[in-house]
Parts: sequence; C-alpha cells; structure tokens
Amino acid sequence: MNKPEIDVIIIGAGPAGLSAAVELKKQGIARVVVLERETQAGGIPRHCGHPPFGFREFSRVYTGPQYARKLVETALQAGVEIRTSTTVVQALPNARLQLSSETGVEEISAKRIIYASGVRETPRSARLISGTRPLGVINTGALQSHVYLKQRRPFKHPAIIGTELVSFSAIQTCRHAGIQPVVMLEATDKPVARWPASLFARFSKVPLYLNTKLIRIEGDKQVEGIVVEDINGVQRTINCDGVLLTGKFTPESTLGRCGHLVIDQNTGGPQVNQFGRCSDPTYFAAGNLLRPVETAGWSWKEGHQVANCVVHDLNGKLPDSLESNAENQIQLLSKSANIKFFMPQLISLPHTKVGMKHIQLRFKHRATGILKVLDGSSVLYAKRLKVYPERRVLISIGEAIADCHSNRLELVFEEL
Ligand SMILES: Cc1cc2nc3c(=O)[nH]c(=O)nc-3n(C[C@H](O)[C@H](O)[C@H](O)COP(=O)(O)OP(=O)(O)OC[C@H]3O[C@@H](n4cnc5c(N)ncnc54)[C@H](O)[C@@H]3O)c2cc1C
Repeated sequence: MNKPEIDVIIIGAGPAGLSAAVELKKQGIARVVVLERETQAGGIPRHCGHPPFGFREFSRVYTGPQYARKLVETALQAGVEIRTSTTVVQALPNARLQLSSETGVEEISAKRIIYASGVRETPRSARLISGTRPLGVINTGALQSHVYLKQRRPFKHPAIIGTELVSFSAIQTCRHAGIQPVVMLEATDKPVARWPASLFARFSKVPLYLNTKLIRIEGDKQVEGIVVEDINGVQRTINCDGVLLTGKFTPESTLGRCGHLVIDQNTGGPQVNQFGRCSDPTYFAAGNLLRPVETAGWSWKEGHQVANCVVHDLNGKLPDSLESNAENQIQLLSKSANIKFFMPQLISLPHTKVGMKHIQLRFKHRATGILKVLDGSSVLYAKRLKVYPERRVLISIGEAIADCHSNRLELVFEEL
C-alpha cells in the first residue's frame, strides 16, 4: 500500500526540528517527515560533549549527546519519520523540496515545510583573516566533532579567537582532549559572554587578552603562530599550533538564499512573522535559523511553538493565511546603528495568543539608552535599558502594537 501524502516536512533534525515534529504528531498530524543531512539525527548537541542540556524539555540535565539521543528517541516514539543522510539541496515554491541522498536526487512535497537548519560559526574565509593557509585553523563545531565524534586531537596548543559562550565551552572541549590553549583573544574591552564565564579561562590557565585582535596566521604545513595587535597598535607574535575561530554565528540559510525565500539581511535567516511563517506561506522557520544564536532549550521551545502555528494553519485557524496581504500585517523597521537585528520582522493582524509573544532584538555594542517603538511620531513603547552585544532583549508584541494605527513600526534605540 502506498504511504499517505506527507503533511509536514521538516528540514533539520536538531532540537528545533525534532521538537516541532513531536508537537505536530501530538496534535494529530498524520505524516511528519524530518530530513537530516548528517548520518545521525540530533543536531549540534550531538557533538557538545558537556552539560547542561535538556532541563527545560525533560526536567533533567544531560550532556549534549545524551540530550540528542533523547530528542531522537522521543520523536521516533511519537511516530515521526526521520530520514538521515538526506540533504535538501533546493527549496522550491509551494512546499516542494529537492533532495540528495544515497539513492540519488528526488523531489518531494508536503502541505507545509518547517525550515530548521540551525546556525554555523563564521569560517576563516568569511572573516577575511590574512596570512598563510596552514592546517589547524578550525571552528568550535569542527573541534567538537574531532574530539567527541572522532576521538581526534587537531592541535595541542591553539589560540582561541573570541569570547562568546561557545568560546568558553571550547576550553572545556580542549580540556577533555588534553589540549591546552595558549591564549584567548577578545578585540573589545570585555568578554562577550556573561560573567562568570571568563573565570573558566582563568581556572583553565588560559590567558585572556582583551583589546587585542588577530592580524595574521603564520605557518607552512601546520599553524606555527599568530600575529596579534593590542589597542595601542603594538604587534607581537604568539606561538601556537592551531587557531580556533569561535562564535560569530550565522544562520544556515543557504537554501533560502539560493532559492525563493526572502532573507532578512540583519538576522541572516528567513524573514518571518510571529507565526514563523516565511515569504512563501507554505514555509515556516524555527530554531536558530531564525537568528544567531540561542541555546538548545530556546530553539526547542521555538520548534514547539512553530509546530503549533502550523497545526492552526492546516486547520485554517491561523489569523494569517496563505492569502494574507500587506494590509493585515505590520512591518517592523529600524535605522538605529546599534540595533544588530530584530525578529520577527512582520506582525500579522490580528495578533492572538498563537505564535511568538515577543520581538527579539540584539545589539552591536554595550550602551545605555531608551528602546522605543514608534508609530510615526507616536511613542507606543519606551524602556530604559543597558544593552550588551550578543545578549537577547525582548519586547512584548502585545504591548508594542497595542495602539498601532499604521502598517509600519520603527524600533529606535536612543543612547544616553
Ligand atoms: C559549534 C556550536 C556549539 C554550540 N554549543 C552550544 C551549547 O553548548 N549549548 C547550547 O545550548 N547551544 C549551543 N549551540 C547553539 C545550537 O545552535 C543550539 O544548541 C541548537 O542546536 C539549535 O537547534 P536547531 O535545531 O535550531 O539547529 P541545529 O542543532 O543546528 O540543527 C539543524 C540541523 O539541520 C541540519 N541541516 C542543515 N541544513 C540541512 C539541509 N540542507 N538538509 C538537511 N539537513 C540540514 C543540520 O545538519 C543540523 O543537524 C552551539 C552551536 C554551535 C554552532
């Protein structure tokens, strides 16, 4: 007997995709298929060999791999079909996908697609780092994969570039593999990750150099050193056998960029409304693809939330619909230099209890100021805030649009 038509296809078997899949099944959606390009499902946590994962979802603390296994197990028990070693190579209009797997290239379709392909760190090429091109320059994801999945040690004494949370978790990965980093560099005057993350560098005997930037990488076959420059323009060489480029996350949105979906230039992910709906209304997006970067638990929650929107949509109960037009939606805009991005970028009306409750914002640099939502010259929302790079700021959508009379709202941050 032929299998029934697929109701929802999910691109990516990370926390967001698997959580969405389980929620869809729980809400009675018959056929849910998750496509994953890796040989195993579970997403990034598969190679984060450290805790804490899973407290929000399972009320227990797991390591990344344990958490990934639990996600997969839960999805399979719920009746989700997971196809691994299957890469979506093209996203086509009206919920059609082109796939590549060991059986060749095929096209499949569903009633809706949930796009949940996560984030990646910015590689060397996109950071425009000068110098030679020796072996030993990698991102944290590659380090974790070497250490936890392949039991390999790509270097012994690397320099770590960056001070985001993932940079400190990279120290943990290094310790696990007997790797001793020689230095951690931060171009600004403060670590990006919240205190006490930076204490971890000190406990691990990794010197943290603030106001210091990487100028060039040196080495022939393997990295032999890096040249760094401090705030006074003084350069020096630090000997090391590897360079770990951490953070600077960017959504894995290639399918959208190369296809027909509108990409928001600030988040780097697809443009969405509060239901996670993309510019092609048969596509929804969830998890870290929406913006760089949140934790696994947050992404899991977004998967769950977007699945709920998809169920409402399939039942014809989402206020937004396939035929929605510019008149029943509000476009959010911002010209403030310090606002790095905001998400969602569109709010469909009427705003109900379904979907995202907040506009998420990120800022470029540390500052104190007043965050406002403006409808022309009317101030709909104002709050004094101290903002930091890479830290989430939330505005309630309900509050922001309560007295809105137009189709465009501006987000403004006035520095004090
Ligand atoms: C190096 C690194 C370390 C991190 N460390 C932590 C941490 O310690 N703790 C934490 O909470 N968060 C961490 N994160 C954040 C991480 O993104 C989240 O934990 C979580 O994995 C996000 O879930 P997701 O489902 O949105 O994306 P992901 O977990 O990234 O899952 C997306 C999945 O989509 C698949 N995929 C992508 N494109 C395609 C395609 N075209 N076809 C088929 N499949 C595709 C990918 O292979 C992947 O499995 C880290 C992120 C990175 C990059």
